[in-house]
Amino acid sequence: MTIHPLKKTLILLAAGAWLAGAGGWSVAGEVAVDPADNGTDIRDDTTEDADSRSGEVAAAVEEFVEAVPSHSHDVPLAEAVTSAEGIAEPLELLGAEIPPGTSMRLSWSATELFEGVPVSTPVLAINGALPGPNLCLTAAVHGDELNGVEMVRRVLHDINPDKLSGAIIGVPIVNVQGFRRGSRYLPDRRDLNRYFPGNPTGSAAARIAHSFFINVVAHCDALIDLHTGSFERANLPQIRADLRNPDVVTLTQGLGGMVILHSTPAIGTLRYAATQAGIPAVTLEAGGPSVLELNEVKHGVKGIETLISAIGMQRKLRLWSDPEPVYYRSSWVRADSGGILLADVSLGSTVREGDLLGTITDPMSNARSEVRSPYSGRIIGMARNQVVMPGFAAFHVGIATVEAPVGETEPSVAQKKDGDSEDYVDGMSE
Ligand SMILES: [Zn+2]
Repeated sequence: MTIHPLKKTLILLAAGAWLAGAGGWSVAGEVAVDPADNGTDIRDDTTEDADSRSGEVAAAVEEFVEAVPSHSHDVPLAEAVTSAEGIAEPLELLGAEIPPGTSMRLSWSATELFEGVPVSTPVLAINGALPGPNLCLTAAVHGDELNGVEMVRRVLHDINPDKLSGAIIGVPIVNVQGFRRGSRYLPDRRDLNRYFPGNPTGSAAARIAHSFFINVVAHCDALIDLHTGSFERANLPQIRADLRNPDVVTLTQGLGGMVILHSTPAIGTLRYAATQAGIPAVTLEAGGPSVLELNEVKHGVKGIETLISAIGMQRKLRLWSDPEPVYYRSSWVRADSGGILLADVSLGSTVREGDLLGTITDPMSNARSEVRSPYSGRIIGMARNQVVMPGFAAFHVGIATVEAPVGETEPSVAQKKDGDSEDYVDGMSE
């Protein structure tokens, strides 16, 4: 694994922030905030919505500090367990020291908060009795995405510290403020997953992202960020991964029978920032927002436990012997007229070019139009039945590709204006 070359220039900054965080819950690092500061300190701020369902503040263009991991990774992830030598060491995390073979419940809170009241969120850490990599699971970066919260609980509960090689760090609710309000966003309508790795002197979202990145993510050797669809859309359980990165490919191969979607991560996502910092990361999408879906939860847990077995962290925890061999590229099919959308397909359906995906009926005129698939492929995400307006992204079709993608492409930019990219759907790029 390679570490980003700019790492060194900012290591002092990160070290300072880490010491402040590790020193416990002191308030020494706080800075006075101008009472007139209404939080709209980002450039190119706009309230223009790319999607009718979104009240999202455009993320854009924040100065990010460089993502800095606390340690380097010299060994491919696939060999992280077999090449680990000696005895397991205590895991230092959030000011605590977790001895090998034990687990501990810690808490993380960002130092900058809206109301001045610290809001902490649990961090569950299991340090295995045997040496190995640190695998991190993060959920509810979007506060209304609940399936991942339950996945983290189930996976952590199933781990036996005595038989574990390495450590598993689980954060069930990253965006605790959004979670409490049942909202995808932070209280200022910013999407936290557009601000990683953050900035200690940036917007509130950037500060929260920075604190989380430095205090938790920097301790990971690999990361799975758990999400669901958004805005009344649901996703077939799937992995989104940049398949040009060999360690990311190791993660996807370990995750078993799950659809794998090659996607270059949007700038500002946790997946993007972690991978930039030399921490291979994937996003696991399953189901829709604001509900707990048992089948999706079980599917995700099975995938994660298969990964833990596959990379040798805990043997025979789970074995998923039927991996999805197909990589997908994908495209959204949008509604061309407004009205009541009723689907004729379901998640996971295989479709051919020209197949009927759904109908849209105008409730006043009773005029009906059809939504047909321009592609042959598989339905990997779709809107729930609802009233839509023209342009609404309704069906996400995965298009099978034989080969994994190669070559360099620019990362996608999440805050693209509608129309710049047919694949960009607000809130759907994690
Ligand atoms: Zn999400």
